Amino acid sequence: MSTLARIRNFAIIAHIDHGKSTLSDRLIQLCGGLSAREMKERVLDSMALERERGITIKSQTARLSWQHEGKNYMLNLVDTPGHVDFAYEVSRSLAACEGALVLIDAAQGVEAQTLANVYAALENDLDIIPVLNKVDLPAANVQATKKQIEDIIGIDSRESIEVSGKTGFNIEALPAAIVRSIKPPSGDSSGTLSALLIDSWYNPFLGVSILVRVKNGTLKRGDKVKLLATNTFCVVDRLGIFTPKPIDVDTLAAGEIGFAIVGLKSINLCQVGDTLTHAHQPIAEPLAGFQKKVSVVFCGLYPTNKDDHRAVKDALGKLALNDSAIHFEPETSAALGFGFRCGFQGLLHLEITQERLRREYKLDLVTTAPSVVYKITTTDGRALRLHNPSEFPDPTTIRSIEEPWVRATIFCPQNAVGAILELLESRRGEQKEMNATGDRFVLVYSLPLNEILYDFYDRLKSISRGYASFDYTQDNYRPGELVKVDILINGENAEPLSMIVHRQFAEQRGRQICERLKDLIPRQLFKIALQATIGGRIIARETISALRKDVTAKCYGGDFTRKRKLLEKQKAGKKRMQKIGKIDIPHDSFVKALRMADS
Ligand code: GDP
Ligand code: MG
Repeated sequence: MSTLARIRNFAIIAHIDHGKSTLSDRLIQLCGGLSAREMKERVLDSMALERERGITIKSQTARLSWQHEGKNYMLNLVDTPGHVDFAYEVSRSLAACEGALVLIDAAQGVEAQTLANVYAALENDLDIIPVLNKVDLPAANVQATKKQIEDIIGIDSRESIEVSGKTGFNIEALPAAIVRSIKPPSGDSSGTLSALLIDSWYNPFLGVSILVRVKNGTLKRGDKVKLLATNTFCVVDRLGIFTPKPIDVDTLAAGEIGFAIVGLKSINLCQVGDTLTHAHQPIAEPLAGFQKKVSVVFCGLYPTNKDDHRAVKDALGKLALNDSAIHFEPETSAALGFGFRCGFQGLLHLEITQERLRREYKLDLVTTAPSVVYKITTTDGRALRLHNPSEFPDPTTIRSIEEPWVRATIFCPQNAVGAILELLESRRGEQKEMNATGDRFVLVYSLPLNEILYDFYDRLKSISRGYASFDYTQDNYRPGELVKVDILINGENAEPLSMIVHRQFAEQRGRQICERLKDLIPRQLFKIALQATIGGRIIARETISALRKDVTAKCYGGDFTRKRKLLEKQKAGKKRMQKIGKIDIPHDSFVKALRMADS
């Protein structure tokens, strides 16, 4: 038997929180390369941010080994993120695999991303094994979940496997099923080299590393290789696999997944989706790569400290290498100076990126109001694509504005349907479909993307007590009655807060933002006026009254160290302020004001 027949590459896909990372732990324990001491909970979520929030942001791989009927098999596991904003990570992982475990929390049932991910797997022609997870929970309902697998997903549930990632119940059934039901990779390890670049990342000590899936031929340490898309030549300094800890190997043959450290300085030369081949004997045609992802949400990122501009640029470049769904270009703003306009897959993606810049690169940033891309036709017939509210043309020169709409799928229990329909209607939603399987409702709606940007997901979760799930795909552009709302702080335009909203909600949102800012901006020595305006017309107003600034006033007499602590705290706080006019504003107030404006 050739070695290819002994390889299985599989992804674990599921809705967020259905237990992918926990199940990966069990599989790694059962057949992986970590000692008990090296094992920890959700071992594949290696980023600090992932561990803290309990979500997976990056796909991770681990090579496992398993004995089946007396033969050794190599199983390559790919754990994937569940949130809709990271769907791009999932699609790349699927391209590296021949099969997928579709994990379903048996207490929750099929959710919106379960369906979205299964469709993606089927499009990639993967063999699918349904896995019912969390059967240890008293609320687990195996029969009902199986029925949903048949009725909603439309795949046979007889082959499904019941497990618990938490207790380890029936985990041994999985590797056996993977060997049996997932096809081995095709290819020829003695053929011409072609490898798909699945991921790339930058390490200050090692330089550029790439994750590859070898499709054909064999990659060896020391090989001179070529990246087709960027026509770049480099040498493979090191090769390795993840177990999930990195282990050096000498070769990666057809069917295998592993990493390579290539002696490249420029981070832009390794594009995810590119094909890697031998420099002396290249393949003629590149492999089918990945579609370039179009950003759906844009915002401006500006360093609070103007000297950090260069550092932000470098950091964004490095992050973009690691996360090809980020786009950025320089922009300038009268209020904020030099910064970048960045494109993201969604709000969580934006938030995570901002957080990574802050933590991994120690950068403090101001984020402007997130915006979708509007299409504007001017009265003199020009067509504009508007990413940035501050470039909104004079309203009298606009003939029409079009905004992006999405097709949203929502899964929810029956008792939440009423409240969710209300929410959808209040966001200009149009019902397309509404179906029920037992207690579970599936709603399909058309919605303006603009209406789900800020807090739709949070609201949906709270009104359904966490039981509703949501997924969307881009649909079309439609004309809309949209206006730009500006926020003035003591007469100065707070550009980061400018937003484009439907005329119907303009006044309400303007008022909410002013009210929020009133709570978020600390009182100062003078009075502060907050106003919301449309084209110069004031639609809402709030005032922050003046205050004495001496923070130590309240600890008169007594302990000096306590006073000093307070003063130091105030000083530290100052560094994280930005100025609009002569007013100091905490750097996170704008994001907070926008985020909470609807709640
Ligand atoms: P992921 O988002 O799909 O990667 O899910 P995680 O592995 O991070 O798990 C989400 C949550 O479900 C965590 O709190 C886990 O402890 C819990 N969990 C995972 N598997 C099981 C299981 O089999 N039984 C129970 N009771 N809880 C589980
Ligand atoms: Mg996870």
